[in-house]
Amino acid sequence: GLNCGIVGLPNVGKSTIFSALTSAPAEAANYPFCTIDPNVGIVSVPDPRLDHIVELIPPKKVVPAIVEFVDIAGLVAGASKGEGLGNRFLSHIREVGVIAHVVRCFEDEDIVHVSGTINPASDIETINIELALADLETVERRKEKNVKAMKAVGTESGKRAAALVPILEELSALLTEGKPARSREWKDEELELMRDLHLITLKPQVYVCNVDEDALLAGNGFVEEVKRIAGKEGAEVVVICGKLEAEIAALESEEDKHEFLDAAGLAESGLNSLIRTGYRMLGLRTFFTAGADEDRAWTFHEGDTAPKAAGVIHTDFEKGFIKAEVYHCDDLFELGSEQQVKAAGRLRIEGKEYVVKDGDIVHFRFNV
Ligand code: GDP
Repeated sequence: GLNCGIVGLPNVGKSTIFSALTSAPAEAANYPFCTIDPNVGIVSVPDPRLDHIVELIPPKKVVPAIVEFVDIAGLVAGASKGEGLGNRFLSHIREVGVIAHVVRCFEDEDIVHVSGTINPASDIETINIELALADLETVERRKEKNVKAMKAVGTESGKRAAALVPILEELSALLTEGKPARSREWKDEELELMRDLHLITLKPQVYVCNVDEDALLAGNGFVEEVKRIAGKEGAEVVVICGKLEAEIAALESEEDKHEFLDAAGLAESGLNSLIRTGYRMLGLRTFFTAGADEDRAWTFHEGDTAPKAAGVIHTDFEKGFIKAEVYHCDDLFELGSEQQVKAAGRLRIEGKEYVVKDGDIVHFRFNV
């Protein structure tokens, strides 16, 4: 899935962060393909480049890119055994592309911690062990099925099953130790064979440290601990103050939000950085279309060619693709107008093979 699933122990601030994320819902009419579900938040991706384009090419309408966050409640110790909401939880988390793991890094005696003390390392371990156990069960089940599949010697599926044997063994060993599948580097062929297992611990993870306001600037020992663990796992870290984000989200105007951030000594809200980190970790990139009617950010996958990217706008654009007129938003920012970009020879005509770059401003030519 092209979305980020928010997980974490109870009372770490998941709902607070999720409601702040969804306080300004993206205008649904622009995204008719999106599902409406209370646990799913369609979140606009903050992008200063789009703001800058709007200044230089003023349109009637502005449409930002979006990314989906899913609130996945119900992870407690024992979830892998189907306790409580366990089973439903696991089926939801298998579908997400990136895991945003919220870790409590603030002290507050009024807010109960499930295990009594604030201990990020132990909290992270609790969750990661549940996820590893869930994957272990998946792997063990596949091993049984795989034995049968291998009997079809000489067939394509028999060959795949045989190639899967050492991979399943290695996964079992890792997961039994409570280590995530992503803790080892896999070859592309191995990842391809593993794909339909939908392993949770293979998904990229970002740790979201939920801190008190004063720790946003000064940091604290809990955050250091999380960073140390993330470093070992190759995971990313975002530091956020859920309480502050909720207050910012409640403000009406952009000016008020900026003033609030300034007063707190912050350049940007932690939520914005979480949104962008999630978007990037999902492999999502942005190109723009700009004109008098609409300036818009579109989402494509890193590595997509021009026809594929055109297909994001409309399937007809992909089928009837002729060429793309392309320049980079940095050219626009440097030269100030589209005319100047053309005059400077920076507008290029690209064909079917062109790999679209993050920040390209594109005009597609197509047959209907
Ligand atoms: P969830 O169970 O993980 O969804 O946690 P909630 O979002 O419901 O938060 C649990 C409690 O912690 C609530 O009372 C929140 O108001 C409080 N809380 C959330 N974020 C912060 C924070 O950054 N600092 C402090 N002091 N309290 C917070």
